[in-house]
Parts: sequence; structure tokens; C-alpha cells
Amino acid sequence: MSSSVLIIDDSVTVREQIIRTLESFNLFTRYYEAEDGLEGFKKLLSSPVDIILCDLEMPRIDGFKFLSMLKARPDLQDVPVIILTGMNDRERKIKGLEQGASDYITKPFDHEELVARVKIHLKIKKLQDDLKRSNELLLELSNTDHLTGLFNRRYMMEALDKEVQRSIRKGGNLSLIMLDIDHFKRVNDNYGHLQGDVVLQKVALQLQKELRNYDCAARYGGEEFVAILPDSTLNEAVLAAERIRLAVQETSFSGPLSELNLTVSLGVACFYPDQTSTVDGFIKLADDVLYRAKANGRNRVEFHDPENPDISST
Ligand code: GH3
Ligand code: MG
Ligand code: MG
Ligand code: MG
Repeated sequence: MSSSVLIIDDSVTVREQIIRTLESFNLFTRYYEAEDGLEGFKKLLSSPVDIILCDLEMPRIDGFKFLSMLKARPDLQDVPVIILTGMNDRERKIKGLEQGASDYITKPFDHEELVARVKIHLKIKKLQDDLKRSNELLLELSNTDHLTGLFNRRYMMEALDKEVQRSIRKGGNLSLIMLDIDHFKRVNDNYGHLQGDVVLQKVALQLQKELRNYDCAARYGGEEFVAILPDSTLNEAVLAAERIRLAVQETSFSGPLSELNLTVSLGVACFYPDQTSTVDGFIKLADDVLYRAKANGRNRVEFHDPENPDISST
């Protein structure tokens, strides 16, 4: 695995000594050097490194200034910095550690101690990186429906809650589409549950394809899906729902499903802060019109029109 180190020191001799020592232990595949904090910072921006060894006393941008520049960049905060200090520099060691350095090494340095300290901090950095990656993965898993890869209901409810709050505060349009596959039970009965899963995945794909990047498509449960459309009027959302309906109707399946004619029913509602006060109430509006789409023959879009609640279909 490749790993890299950045050595910042105004003394070329010190830099060479450090590199020679680290090289003799084969600790890194890449070595970057800089003669002051500014040059070091520039190198860091263009080539991310695993660890930094930084002198404190340097012309122009010294080690302390370098540490504060690093602190201002959240993306660089996890890179360990070992400061290089003079033997009797107690105060400056403490100040450096307080400013975010992970450790210090006194000059002239002991080669084995240098290597041991570098190894420890590389190990800690690797553990931290692994932890961060598994946390990200966990977060993704906890937000995702494993069958379709869409967001799950839990995430959708959180997202909808945020969008509703935003719409109340800022007054933007917010629309919601609920989708339910028509006669899905028959798909399972005729082709088996596994093929039913294939159909769910295909519908999820079509749904996502017809939406914009900042819409949120989620599996609400079973064969029901939800799409949140921020900044969309009722009209725009109805058009999107109609596009989704058509896309599913025109989907061709292969293999055992090649004879399947799949359709979906959709209900659309727009959020009106004065009429729809809660997230649950908003979902119920879309759900009620979806139910009407089913009752009126399926494979259709119905929407909640606040002025004409009884006549609203495409
Ligand atoms: P309607 O047109 O009225 O919506 O009829 P429907 O048959 O689609 O609705 P119903 O609610 O009767 O059936 C839904 C079916 O969806 C029943 C259930 O077994 C199936 N289902 C729910 N989750 C899954 C899943 O993850 N995979 C598969 N294959 N089937 C599922
Ligand atoms: Mg110096
Ligand atoms: Mg259903
Ligand atoms: Mg259904």
C-alpha cells in the first residue's frame, strides 16, 4: 500500500537526515519536502499525505502558523503532525501540542525513536481512517433500502420533515408523489417472489431516472415508493408523476418476465403550510389520492387539488 510523508524544515540537512532514516525502514513510498510552512501547505493541498513532520522555527510561515492553517481546514485535520523542536524547548513543545500537533521529536533526533513515533502515529491514523470509513458505511446502510438502493422510509421521513420545515420558513413549493405498483401480488403469484424483487428494482430505477438529482426517491415499504420534490409546484410534480407512470408502462422485461405488462398508480400532493400542518397529514393527502387512482382503474395519476378536492386526475 502506498503511503507518503511531508517533511517541513528550513534546514536541508535535517530534511535529508529524516528522509534517509525513514527510507532505511521502508516506511513510505513517497517523500515530500518543503522549506517553510507555506510551501508545506501548498504541497499538502496538491498531494495528500499520511503524516507530517514539521519544524517549529522557520522563516516566513513557521510551524505554529502552519498548525493554525491546518486547523482551519476540516479535510486536513486528521493528518497527524509531529513537530521537531530543540532539546530544551519545553514551552514550545507544549504550545505546539496545544495547537494540534500529535507529538514532538527533539533535535538532534534519535533515529530509532523517530521511526517508532512515526509508526505509532501512522497506526493511529489508519485506525481512525478505518473507523471513519465504517461509520460512513453504517450511515449509508441505515439510510438505504437494501433491495432497491433507494433511500429507506426512515431516511425519507427525516428528509420530508426537513423539507416541510424549510417550506414553512421560506415558503418554497414542495411536492410529494406516492407510487404503488398495480396488482403486484399477481406478479409474485405468477412469477415468484424473486422475480417480484427484480420488478421492484426496475421500478426503483425508472423512478430515479425520471427525477432530478435533488429529489429524494425512497422505498416507503413493500411495493410502495415515495418521491419528495423540493421546489416543485403541484403542476410540475403531476408532470413528473405522469412521466414515471409512462416510463413504467413502457418498461420491457426480459427472461421469465418478458410477458409482464407492469403499471403503477400515483398520488401527488403539494404542501400548503396553512392547510397541511404536519408531515403525516401531507403523506395522508398523497396516500388518499393514490387510493383514488386505484379506485378509478389504476395506471393513472391523481392529485390533491386544494381548490377542487374532488376532481383531480390526469
Ligand atoms: P394494488 O393494485 O391494489 O396495489 O394490488 P397489489 O397486489 O399491488 O397490492 P397488495 O397490497 O395486495 O400486495 C402487495 C404485495 O407486495 C404483497 C406482498 O407480498 C408484496 N411484497 C411486499 N414486499 C415485497 C418484497 O420485498 N418483495 C416481493 N417480491 N414482494 C413484496
Ligand atoms: Mg528551523
Ligand atoms: Mg400497496
Ligand atoms: Mg400495489
